[in-house]
Formats: sequence, C-alpha cells, structure tokens
Amino acid sequence: MGLLSLGTPLPWHEVEKYTDHVRQHGIQQFLYIWKTKKDIKSNNLLWGDEVEYMVVSCDDEHKRALLSLRQAEILKALEENEHKERLIEETNNVPLNQRIPSFHPEYGRYMLEATPGTPYTASLDELVNVEKNMNKRREIAKEHMLPQEVPLTLASFPRLGAPGQFTDPYCPPTGPASRSLFLPDELINPHARFPTLTGNIRERRGSKVAINVPIFKDTNTPSPFIDRTIPLDRHIFPEDANAREGAAKPDHIYMDSMGFGMGCCCLQVTFQSTDIDEARRLYDQLTPLCPIFLALTAASPAWRGFLSDQDCRWNVIAGSVDDRTEEERGLKPLKNQRYVIPKSRYDSVDWYLSQSPEFRPEYNDVELVIDPAIKKTLTDAGVDEQLASHYAHLFIRDPIVVFSELVDQDDTKSSDHFENIQSTNWQTMRFKPPPPDTDIGWRVEFRPMEIQITDFENAAFSTFIVLLTRAILSFRLNFYIPISKVDENMVRAQRRDAVLDEKFYFRKNIFASPSHMHDEAMTGSETSSEGSSESFESAETNTSSPRKTAPSGKVEDEYALFTMNELINGKKIHYDGAADDGDNDVYEFPGLVPLVRSYLDSMAVDVSVRCRLNAYLDLLSRRASGELQTAAAWMREFIRGHPDYKFDSVVSEEINYDLVKAVEQLTKGEEWDGKGSKFLGGIRASL
Ligand code: ADP
Ligand code: MG
Ligand code: MG
Ligand code: MG
Repeated sequence: MGLLSLGTPLPWHEVEKYTDHVRQHGIQQFLYIWKTKKDIKSNNLLWGDEVEYMVVSCDDEHKRALLSLRQAEILKALEENEHKERLIEETNNVPLNQRIPSFHPEYGRYMLEATPGTPYTASLDELVNVEKNMNKRREIAKEHMLPQEVPLTLASFPRLGAPGQFTDPYCPPTGPASRSLFLPDELINPHARFPTLTGNIRERRGSKVAINVPIFKDTNTPSPFIDRTIPLDRHIFPEDANAREGAAKPDHIYMDSMGFGMGCCCLQVTFQSTDIDEARRLYDQLTPLCPIFLALTAASPAWRGFLSDQDCRWNVIAGSVDDRTEEERGLKPLKNQRYVIPKSRYDSVDWYLSQSPEFRPEYNDVELVIDPAIKKTLTDAGVDEQLASHYAHLFIRDPIVVFSELVDQDDTKSSDHFENIQSTNWQTMRFKPPPPDTDIGWRVEFRPMEIQITDFENAAFSTFIVLLTRAILSFRLNFYIPISKVDENMVRAQRRDAVLDEKFYFRKNIFASPSHMHDEAMTGSETSSEGSSESFESAETNTSSPRKTAPSGKVEDEYALFTMNELINGKKIHYDGAADDGDNDVYEFPGLVPLVRSYLDSMAVDVSVRCRLNAYLDLLSRRASGELQTAAAWMREFIRGHPDYKFDSVVSEEINYDLVKAVEQLTKGEEWDGKGSKFLGGIRASL
C-alpha cells in the first residue's frame, strides 16, 4: 500500500465525471517521468520485501481467536517508536544492518504491513539481514500490542466472515460500504480511501462482488453442499438480494465483500534495476514464475469457516475487487461501456514488456484490450509500441477513488493520477517507474506469493527471488512462454495440493545463449568460500546478445509440462527442439534451485551466509519435492486431524483457535506437538 492521500473522497457518481480527466493526466504524468527518467542508470541494486500481518487476539478462556481491530492504536505506537529509534540512529551512527523497520496500514483494520525501513543493498552478506530484520519487525510489533494480541503472518483467516464472533470487539456483519452479509464495515481500515474503494467498486460493478470458492468435499460434507449459514432472508440493503438471485452457488463457499480478498496477507519483493530495459526484461522473465511461486507458497486452505478445495488466495482477491460491469464481463451487449474485459483489475500479467532479443511477439498471445487514444498519445510522444500497449491496457480501467482536493495537479510534479490507475491494477508483477523528484530508479515488483507462517520461510522466498534475478542476468536465462500458458498455470497453481499433483507449462531450453552458457551455469566458475563476500554487482552480468537473429521454430515446441519437483530441482528431458540450440537432443532442465546454487558457487560468499542460504534453498527444494508441506497442506492436515473436526468441511471456533496457537508457536521457532515436522522438517537452524 503506497502513501495514503488525505482529503475528501468522491462518491462513485462524482468519480464518473473525472475518469477521463484522471486517465489523461495520469498518462501525461507517466510521459513526464518517462521523458525525464528513461535514460537514468542506477548502479546500485536496492531491494526490499513487504510482509503483511494479521493482529490476532486470543481469548484463551473461551478458546477463540479473533481479529483485533486496533490497527490505528498499534500503528500510532509503532510510529512513535520508529521516530524515537531514528533519533537514536542519527546521534549514534547505527550500522545499516540494524536498520529500523517501518510499519504501514493495510486494507483490513486488523492488518499491518512492514518493510525493512531502508532497502537492502547488493551485498551478499546483507542477505542474512533479511530474516533478522523480519524477526525484529515481529518483535517490535508484538511489543506494541496488548498481551493477548499477536502479529501472525496468516495468508487468510479461516473464520473471517463465519457465523458468530470473529472480530475483537464484536461488530454485527452489516454496513453501508460493503453491504456484506458476512463482514462488518468496521473491519475496513477507517481511512476514507478504504471504505470508499469498497463502496465505489460495488457501485461501479452494479452489484456486490461475488466470490465462489469450491468447497472441499470431506466424507461427511453434504452433496450438493448448500450453505445454510447464508442469511438469505435478510432485507437491509437492495444488494441482499444478490445471494438469493444466484450469486451464491451450490457446492461453493460464497463471499460477497472486498474484505475477503484484500483482507488476505501476501509477501512482495521489489527491486531496482540498472535501467529501464533491465527492468522490462526482469518483469518479463519473472512473469512465468508467478504461478510457480504462488503454488509453492500456497497458504490459504479455509474460507468463511469452511475448508475449500483450493489452497491459494489469488482468485479470491481477484473476485473481491472485480469492479467490471455486466457489459464489461460480457454478460450483456456493450451499450454504456467501452470494452469487454476478460479479467478483474486484480489478476495476472496480460502482456510482456521487453524488447530483449529473447522476446518473440508470439508470446503475447492473449488479445490485449487497450485504449487506442491512450496508446496513440504515448506512441506520438515517442514511447515504443510495446510499452505503450502496456499502459494503454492498464488505463482501460477507471480510477475508483478520487479525492476532490487532488483533481487538479501539476503533471510535472505529481504522479498521483498515474499512480491512481497504476496501483489499482493489481497484477502478479508491477513495473514501477521512478517517482518524480527522487533518485529512485526503475523498479519491478514480484507480487504473487502468499505470506508464509515463519520469518524463516518469508526470508527464504524473498532472498530466493532476488538471487534468481541475479542468476537470470548473470546466466542470461530465458523463461518466456506464451502468456496464455502462464494464465493456465495460474489456474493450476491455486488447486489443492498443486505442488504435488499439478504440472505446469515451462520453457524447455532456458538458456538464451549458446551451450557454453549452460555449462557455466551448471558448474559455476571459481568456487570460493573464504575471504570477504562479494556483492551482486561484482558477478559479471552477461550482456552478450544471445543471438543475432530472432528465434525461429514453432513456439509450441519451446515449452512442455513439468512437475514442481522438476522445475525446482531439475530434470533430464528429451529435447527435440525445432528451436535454435543446436543438436542437443537430450537436454537437462537444470531446475531453479541448482541454478541459484551455481550462481552462488560463482561468488565468494562468507561461510555463515552460505550456510543460511543453503537452508533457504533446502526449504524450496524439499517443498517442491513434496518432502515438506506447504502451509496450506499443513493447515488442512491440522484441521482434519483435530478432535473437533466432524469431516464436514467446517472449521469450528475451537479448531481455528488451536490452529492459531499452533501457528504462533511455529513463528517462535518451536514445533507444535511434533505436528509441524512435515512442515519445516527441522531445517530451521537459528540465526
Ligand atoms: P508498495 O506498497 O507500493 O509496493 P512499499 O513502499 O510498501 O511499496 O514497499 C516497497 C519495498 O521496496 C520495500 O521493501 C522497500 O524497502 C523497497 N524499496 C524502497 N526503495 C527502493 C528502491 N529504490 N529500490 C528497490 N526497492 C526499494
Ligand atoms: Mg501491502
Ligand atoms: Mg507496501
Ligand atoms: Mg507492494
């Protein structure tokens, strides 16, 4: 969540008058940034993670775990603490690795977001600071909470919106912004932006959002499953009719409010590139990895008090902010709207951005809905077609929240209108241009991952992603597959036990350059584990052009289906490539973990740092092989093994409480009655 503008948010019927104004000025603001920043170089890698928490309040007497709505008080205390610590830092010259974390508000009034405070640098030694910093954030957050409150990194709260009490204090499930049958408006961050976002999405859409997640059919789950907990007889708001009129589907868990999705927690990683071209390239290269990392981090098996037949939050959030009208969803002929739009504004990437030699236009194989006038404005100003299409696509959306005080802006000083549209296109990847008047460079954000229960895992996934970007640059890796296949992988990634049971489309030959690159990547060059560690920058970046001519051969021959184990740990495949890699018929798919290992082998890394990084790589490797469980699988097993579980898919208050207690114990580095062993498998050595 970026900075929160202060002011008076307009209701939807007022926002409608300004949609074109915001779009046009937003594009002018982008153009100003592009013209002034397109040639800048940022020689330092800077990067950082974002961790989101739920503040859970435990009522030990009644065995209930509730979501504490004290975000504002907690954030105020945390802000005062940060201020105090910064003063101490200034006077005492505190080293960077003791950086002061910073905390931010999030959509849910029970949520917090925390970042390292100052971005991490390119030093390899710094990589161990990630987990330390995450530990510190959790400690500081806990110190500023009530004794019964605890910050937990749960991707979704199993009993959010379930019958009975799930917030502390209790609030009846009703309210004018969301008009939900299940969630009180009181659980929305009260800053004007959030209730307005909620209400305006509903109004623009013309109904409440409707999310239907398939129920997990256990041995005693009725079939068909008809959810009797939906109050179909309620008549407070006109939208109460939605559920009666078919929005709630049999055999599904029905959810009707933005809070179900935006109230989930995720793990994001942002990193700065050396220039705009590298940012575009990394944006593309990470795009096919999004579903892979969504599946690997799956942590959301239960919704509204029921076990679901999926493991991830992604499609719930996509549905929870889907502001498309019936015309835009293709349910009615276009009359008042301009386009039929295939996806929610929260969804996966639709368009590759890079013009690097590995790119083939055929990879952008999903028909892109664009605003032609915006594309023309951009291309007339000199922006290339591919980048222009990206923004002409993002800018088919309306702004949802407009503050009356911010309607008129100086397009050379502000990027508010641009950010308004850009930051409400919640894609798996975000291409972040430099804000005006800063020395920040072109950044890319990796956004699909679910938050993990422990800091160990969150550090493992964050550092892995940043190391993978270095391996991509260093070995000149090429992960391109058609966007339609990435979309298909997104569907597969969310299914129950996707890591074990699904296969994913992936590129067979990921080495863009001739075969010597492959050898180098697989063997590493010099290995050294002594002496001072290097920084990422000193790893030689392979800037050689991989080929002089565009790749040829059928795109369909470039990819195949892989298991997660093969993708992460490697596999020998038969490669009958019509493509251009010479005559290698049997080709080893190296696996992402071995690739990162090779990258590390080519660097001088301090022994203790390497040891920690090995533990991270082990986690990924063993999770991909199925030896260790995802959080979703572990939670599902915990719920199904609980004495109070009736094999009817219901996650009772008692089960929820015990699960929360087990999660809390895991965050402290302990196992829960040994039941966590298949989850972390004892690989978490202390830092
Ligand atoms: P948003 O919510 O818009 O995605 P945040 O500011 O919450 O962004 O978090 C972005 C992350 O990027 C943080 O971890 C922060 O430390 C990191 N970061 C800050 N400045 C830079 C930079 N110049 N380059 C790369 N990362 C940065
Ligand atoms: Mg956030
Ligand atoms: Mg943020
Ligand atoms: Mg972010």
